[in-house]
Amino acid sequence: EAPSRLHQVVVLASPGAGHLIPLVELVRRLAVDHGLAVTVVTLTGMSNPATDAAVLASLPASVATAVLPAVSVDDDTHTIELVRRSLPHLRALMEGLRGGGSPAAALVRDFFGTAALPLAAELGVQSFVFLPNSFAMISIMRHIAELHGGDAAGEYRDLPDQLQLPGALALRHADLPDGFRDRADPTYAYHVEEARRYGGADGFLVNSFQELEIAMAESFKRDAEDGAFPPVFPVGPIVRPSSSGEEDDKSGCLEWLDRQPEGSVVYVSFGSGGALSVQQTAELAAGLEASGQRFLWVVRMPSLDGANNNFAEMDDKDDPLAWLPEGFLERTRGRGLAVAAWAPQVRVLAHRATAAFVSHCGWNSTLESVAAGVPMVAWPLYAEQRVNAVILTEVAGVALRPATHRDGGLVAREEIAAAVRELVEGEKGSAVRSRARELREAAARAWSPEGSSRQALAEVAGKWKAALVDGN
Ligand code: UDP
Repeated sequence: EAPSRLHQVVVLASPGAGHLIPLVELVRRLAVDHGLAVTVVTLTGMSNPATDAAVLASLPASVATAVLPAVSVDDDTHTIELVRRSLPHLRALMEGLRGGGSPAAALVRDFFGTAALPLAAELGVQSFVFLPNSFAMISIMRHIAELHGGDAAGEYRDLPDQLQLPGALALRHADLPDGFRDRADPTYAYHVEEARRYGGADGFLVNSFQELEIAMAESFKRDAEDGAFPPVFPVGPIVRPSSSGEEDDKSGCLEWLDRQPEGSVVYVSFGSGGALSVQQTAELAAGLEASGQRFLWVVRMPSLDGANNNFAEMDDKDDPLAWLPEGFLERTRGRGLAVAAWAPQVRVLAHRATAAFVSHCGWNSTLESVAAGVPMVAWPLYAEQRVNAVILTEVAGVALRPATHRDGGLVAREEIAAAVRELVEGEKGSAVRSRARELREAAARAWSPEGSSRQALAEVAGKWKAALVDGN
């Protein structure tokens, strides 16, 4: 089916390549598989325009893009604020589309885009939220809105420490995402504000799949049937294809992997922003060394101020490898490879030599690992990564999590070595490895011709087309 300008969908993207990559994959499927004419709208001011443009360049030619004009922002401006200030520009764009005879059928908003919800209602278009994340995150958002919505002024710290969410998810307070635990946190009010608007959406698309969060998916299904919450459509795993252009191998690690035995290498990476302290970096090095396993470690600059993330662009003169313990690289030469800053992760995870992934549990990394059937050591650092770690360990059973790290302490070398060894060759690890293989099959099934995620997206696309026929 060729894209018809009548089936117009506007997708508003939150800033940041981490959001944009899965969104672009979603849009590709809407355009190519469902013949929808999509306009992807990005905001100006909180992301690197060159990076955004590079990600958007991979879209099919039938997809239109638009950049909203700059609004005033400073370093402290929250994404919600940016969206709010950009609304007049978004309105003009939507009205322009309508005036040109191609009305928008649906406004799909990304995380922190619900400020656009009233605009959708006003223009009479359906409003969907694409959450590049788990069902569990939606559940946590609902929970925070119930705790704090209206006159309620509860606090998480007043609740039992095993927060029991519907869908059989038990969370300790310490595992709540950053900005959700404490109302004194400057982003707390934004999360509540965002969450309170969730009930007004026509539906959600979530980058998860039925088998990954079964009980949670079913609980949302029941709520949609009862009208208690908008329907949530699982359309994942949507991950970057391994053939995409930015996955070239400057570090030479794929060639190195080619020379390693099948299923022998532990891949270690903390994503695009994760940072360990100098001391923790040294312990990790010693732990990998003591494990006796082969490893491929993407080393980033350590954090000197105690923060567990660092999004600063690396300087040319920064050499993260210089922070590794004395003699470590020499002693592990041959069985370990440390590369600075970046590796072509999707290809590394798909490589036959890769056995396990020590990961910060960013949601994209999580799905990439699940899709490749690679079991994980969960080492969450910031944002909602602790929730993802709970899903991986407690719900899906495809990861092990070092206990001291879970309790907020320094993970000692012995514990790292033990976790890695267990995962690659231990008995407890064996159950985790076979769950990872099962889940890989389930992930592939979700996008097979009759698969649950493929059907869910088809159902949503059908709703949007029907809305247009109804003269919406
Ligand atoms: N990534 C990569 N090479 C690296 C580190 C990260 O290709 O060395 C990719 C990874 O495959 C994933 C994304 O960057 O697609 C990171 O997203 P995620 O949600 O896992 O974590 P974030 O970086 O947003 O914390």
